Amino acid sequence: MSSVLVTGGAGYIGSVTVERLVGAGHSVVVLDNLSKGHRAAMHEGVPLVVGEIGDRELVAKTLTEHKVEAVIHFAAMSLVGESMEKPGDYYQNNVVSGIRLLEGMHAAGVDRIVFSSSAGVYGEPESVPISETNRTAPVNVYGDTKLIFERVLAWEAERTGLKHISLRYFNAAGASGRYGEDHRPESHLIPIALQVVAGRRPELTVFGDDYETPDGTCIRDYIDVRDLSDAHILALDALEKGRSGIYNLGNGEGWSVLNVIDSVERVTGRVVERKMGARRAGDPARLVASSSLAIRELGWKPEHPELDDMIEAAWAWMMEHPGGYTE
Ligand code: UDP
Repeated sequence: MSSVLVTGGAGYIGSVTVERLVGAGHSVVVLDNLSKGHRAAMHEGVPLVVGEIGDRELVAKTLTEHKVEAVIHFAAMSLVGESMEKPGDYYQNNVVSGIRLLEGMHAAGVDRIVFSSSAGVYGEPESVPISETNRTAPVNVYGDTKLIFERVLAWEAERTGLKHISLRYFNAAGASGRYGEDHRPESHLIPIALQVVAGRRPELTVFGDDYETPDGTCIRDYIDVRDLSDAHILALDALEKGRSGIYNLGNGEGWSVLNVIDSVERVTGRVVERKMGARRAGDPARLVASSSLAIRELGWKPEHPELDDMIEAAWAWMMEHPGGYTE
């Protein structure tokens, strides 16, 4: 069992991971500036340090005080559209502040990190399913910041001996029961579709139905947030054994926007009012993962590979938290 610092532990994937880390017997401390995270998403008994990952001294002090052995680094700006409008903020937060975090780790003698990367590093994939050796060619600033930070980790490994695992997430979905998705504003397909059936939005706009896919809408690989979180815990074990690397995390199955809408209707028994709209900038047509490397090397095994299960969990969480997290 280790002592772990989770940056962004009050966010969506972070909060579920903290819950599961504690459940697995790890001791956890969270660093979050609460710009997107929620105090109400903090797991009970877990200390929260409110501050910036770019504050090297705060990072080193927190690591030392809590005798931390490894870091799981979620904290980042993560909206594709916003990244195209505010590239400076994205490079500053996701790259420069990330480097300061590494400096704080080095100062405190902590040499293991699990990094939240993204399928966004691939851009428009040359082939699907996408494996880790596919070409990386981001088509938006967000994906570029994630790819740059993966490279930063590799350089830091040469310089300091850092051990690092980057997890390239496909589309996180679902909820853990206690913790779920509450972005403000919300831009993701599944929560928006659920907000429509819950009567909190009039309709959903399908961003383009003229892609080269069977029904014309974009295809994504959705992965249950619980399975995603478990991969981080396995990555910690792998780091402890001296392994570094890059792993895709998805189910290897593609669901189109219309498939997702069908699933939401099946699970909720209600109609998703929708209209067709224009394509959204920066959206690749089809992103489907090959996760065979994570399965083989990390021993990862998704427990909730069915889209309906993820949507059912997200719906249950939304029913229990009709206004999202209330602070
Ligand atoms: N999408 C959509 N309408 C929405 C939100 C998303 O049609 O209101 C589409 C989006 O274009 C993409 C897919 O749903 O093809 C998943 O988008 P999301 O933002 O959930 O995740 P992303 O793939 O961008 O990480």
